[in-house]
Amino acid sequence: MKYIDRSQVGEPAILQESAAPTKEEEVDDGIYGHDEVKKALNQLQRGICCYCESRYNHTTFGDVEHFRPKKGYKQDEKDVLHKPGYYWLAYKWENLMYACEQCNRVYKHNYFPLKDRTKRFDPKVCDISQEEPLLINPYEEKNPENHLTFVGTAIKPLTDKGVASITYYGLERKELDEPRQEVYNDIIAFIDAVKIAEGTSAEAPMIEKLKARINGKIAAGQHTLMVKSNFGKYLKV
Ligand SMILES: [Zn+2]
Repeated sequence: MKYIDRSQVGEPAILQESAAPTKEEEVDDGIYGHDEVKKALNQLQRGICCYCESRYNHTTFGDVEHFRPKKGYKQDEKDVLHKPGYYWLAYKWENLMYACEQCNRVYKHNYFPLKDRTKRFDPKVCDISQEEPLLINPYEEKNPENHLTFVGTAIKPLTDKGVASITYYGLERKELDEPRQEVYNDIIAFIDAVKIAEGTSAEAPMIEKLKARINGKIAAGQHTLMVKSNFGKYLKV
């Protein structure tokens, strides 16, 4: 997961023009799922899922995801679905992001665990600032590496937020092994080349190539956290 700076793209006009729903039945998927919204989110995320950092499948477009779920919420697997959800945030730009179908439909669903479930945001009762979500919001958390790290291609939690995010975004699922391993092996091949060139005139250029490779992976935005966790130290060489 990596931080995404929403200020890089303006709020789509369709969202600015639409009044917040006053009940769940009023929520119109033609507004939050409008092409303008998808285009803006794609500009920000460049085809990369905000949670698992996979490229969307080429045969699907990904889902416009509500960070705070619009139709109801659950604290954990044992919880029942509580109604209503955060329907009043259904068109709120700050609540929208692009997620792959796996993260959104198979894992996150309506889960929205809080540190203190008695402080759930309700505009009639309490302010949003009192609510402390246990899930990492990639549009707000500037340093996801404070909560999650990688040992090789295995993701590890560092905090309670890390634990909940792995569970409810499905960040440990088998399908993520292969793409992570591909990126990992690609960089390891460059590290091996640096080792072979050690003490020769080829060493310095190989180190530069290694750094360029790592920076290139980070710039591409796929599996950024894994690359930084394992190989960030080489950028300081
Ligand atoms: Zn995903």
